[in-house]
Amino acid sequence: ALKDETVIVVLGASGDLAKKKTFPALYALFAQGLLPKDVHIVGYARTKMDEAEFYKRETEHIEGDEEKIKQFKDISSYISGQYDKDEGFQELLKHLEKLEGDRKTKNRVFYMALPPSVFTTVAKGLKKNVYSKDGINRIIVEKPFGKDLESCREMMADLKSQWSENETYRIDHYLGKEMIKNLLVLRFGNVFLDAAFNKNFVSNVQIVFKEPFGTEGRGGYFDEFGIIRDVCQNHLLQTLSILAMERPVSFSAEDIRDEKVKVLRSIPAIAQKDVLLGQYVAEGDKPGYLDDETVPKGSVCPTFAAMTLWVNNPRWEGVPFIMKAGKALNESKVEIRIQFKDALQGIFTDIPRNELVMRIQPSEAVYLKMNAKLPGFATRAVPTELDLTYKKRFVDTNIPQAYEALILDAIKGDHSNFVRDDELDVAWKIFTPILHWIDSKDAPKPEPYPYGSRGPKQLDDFTSKFGYQRSPQEYSWPHTS
Ligand code: NAP
Ligand code: NAP
Repeated sequence: ALKDETVIVVLGASGDLAKKKTFPALYALFAQGLLPKDVHIVGYARTKMDEAEFYKRETEHIEGDEEKIKQFKDISSYISGQYDKDEGFQELLKHLEKLEGDRKTKNRVFYMALPPSVFTTVAKGLKKNVYSKDGINRIIVEKPFGKDLESCREMMADLKSQWSENETYRIDHYLGKEMIKNLLVLRFGNVFLDAAFNKNFVSNVQIVFKEPFGTEGRGGYFDEFGIIRDVCQNHLLQTLSILAMERPVSFSAEDIRDEKVKVLRSIPAIAQKDVLLGQYVAEGDKPGYLDDETVPKGSVCPTFAAMTLWVNNPRWEGVPFIMKAGKALNESKVEIRIQFKDALQGIFTDIPRNELVMRIQPSEAVYLKMNAKLPGFATRAVPTELDLTYKKRFVDTNIPQAYEALILDAIKGDHSNFVRDDELDVAWKIFTPILHWIDSKDAPKPEPYPYGSRGPKQLDDFTSKFGYQRSPQEYSWPHTS
């Protein structure tokens, strides 16, 4: 771990990610005393600004104690410079050396809050000019890691020529989310769940991402990627890999990542017939995707996708893993929904299936839909639930933000919740064929769905084709609190 004497350099410090995520996460760690003891934070970007302007931006999204914020500003500074010239990086080096004074160890963490077009140039510039010879160096990078298998390999090769795998921390911020980190404990710490997590008991699994808003003027950026590259290939696949992997030998980073890679390698590329694509259209006063002026005319970019993945190993063979992800839907929700097989009928008729739901956001919860006898004289089964709602169970417990958890891991040198190079490679292998199909001139036309709906009208047929059975309507959650 980087115990003390560390400088954290945020590249692209003038941007959106830095302002909304990186600096607030650094502040939260600082305020809790979790950053190395003798730490400095240095912002770097092309924009020229004085310290006052930088501090304003740095703390814009930070809420906290005035005195603490002042202390945070005191350890922060800003340098402006280019991304493709040695001079800028030399200036940065001088600044770092000044901060480091005559320390013996000079640990440097570089956080790339930059668009991917400049990742590699900056990574090279840093290695050449600002790499510490007397300490530990780490580089933290964010998706997108390429647009398909080939471009990802190119980018990885470029980065790896400069920075070793051990120095590199690839963020998929879902891996920092509390409920995703909880999966290991839920699965392997509960004997009944562990025993039921396989093809004998599970009918189908859904991994769902729903966003209630559209591109709202940022469609130009989105259109280059589409929903599959935006969330499925990375966030939802990472979730799937932890949900489906075998038990790791230990909690160590390489043991966990070995199992993730192994399960991903048993997933064949997604087949065209297992995909349903959608694009939202106007509804009421809400605009359609193509009404966004930044979106190219006639774009067939999917804003919704449902697709089924198959895990061809002894545990999961034949169990559909359905991913559903979309923008401009009816609600904001990320969840895993595991539907178990039918209870033996005979004495029952039409008893609903058990479902284990892990809600990742908003408001973390794990609930198991199960059948119980309706209290009273008659014997009648009703669907009810075992409920672990975090807000109720862990009162006053602070759930750290994903970026806080991940930056702290990177400082500790723990790679468990970062994406390894071979994981990325196999993730792209699963998705590249359908992505090339969608990008080609034979691109399927996405099914329209109204802004604010649950998705294309074909969706429920799609999930029921893969075995999902909706619980009867009588089930309702008593909203007592
Ligand atoms: P951004 O605001 O567009 O860019 C960050 C900074 O990079 C800008 O302030 C700008 O600084 C510089 N920059 C922008 N475009 C550039 C270009 N074409 N060439 C050279 N420099 C350029 O990006 P961001 O939203 O912060 O995202 C940074 C990275 O994080 C991206 O890879 C993004 O995909 C990823 N990410 C972002 C979010 C988010 O919430 N924003 C979430 C997840 C992942 P100067 O002009 O001052 O140099
Ligand atoms: P539910 O509304 O009974 O079922 C949701 C599932 O049914 C989702 O997969 C959804 O798909 C699908 N669906 C929704 N409308 C449909 C339709 N018209 N046709 C076909 N499928 C449809 O919700 P639940 O999660 O199973 O739980 C039941 C209720 O209990 C919910 O209100 C839940 O919030 C509440 N509950 C809350 C807690 C808690 O907060 N701790 C605990 C237990 C239960 P899409 O996702 O694609 O829309």
